[in-house]
Amino acid sequence: MANSEQHAADWLNFLLAQDLPFAEALSTQVGVGKVGQLCACGCHGFAFDVPANVDFLPLQSGPGIFYEMVLSSNFSEEIDLLLFTDERGCLSWVDVTYGACNIEPMPEGIVPELVTGIWPGTRKDLPTVEVEVKHSTKSWWKFGYRR
Ligand SMILES: [Zn+2]
Repeated sequence: MANSEQHAADWLNFLLAQDLPFAEALSTQVGVGKVGQLCACGCHGFAFDVPANVDFLPLQSGPGIFYEMVLSSNFSEEIDLLLFTDERGCLSWVDVTYGACNIEPMPEGIVPELVTGIWPGTRKDLPTVEVEVKHSTKSWWKFGYRR
């Protein structure tokens, strides 16, 4: 399923529809920014540009991985979402990959089902997020890896 701005918009809308602890900041940034470059590898990754001189709430202080979310899907593999910020703490990139390691292009007709895991990035100054794992897919942790 080729990447497109529509897919990027759909993923942003999906994120905004979740009850995320940073929903307000994300919503202000999505409101003033726009989808940028689309990854062409077969995933649904995309850049996001928040322009200078606009009002926004930062997602975190500084650049880096901000948040990871794993979703079960109607296919055999999960969907991984990774959010990155730039030095202003603005959303700068969203990785949307099929399987834990971007194993294949995102299949045609895939839809997210349940959130099975959430990890606030690698930073230590973020609050811990409690998530109830409602459903387990067939399990990256069995193989002992995680990006
Ligand atoms: Zn890609």
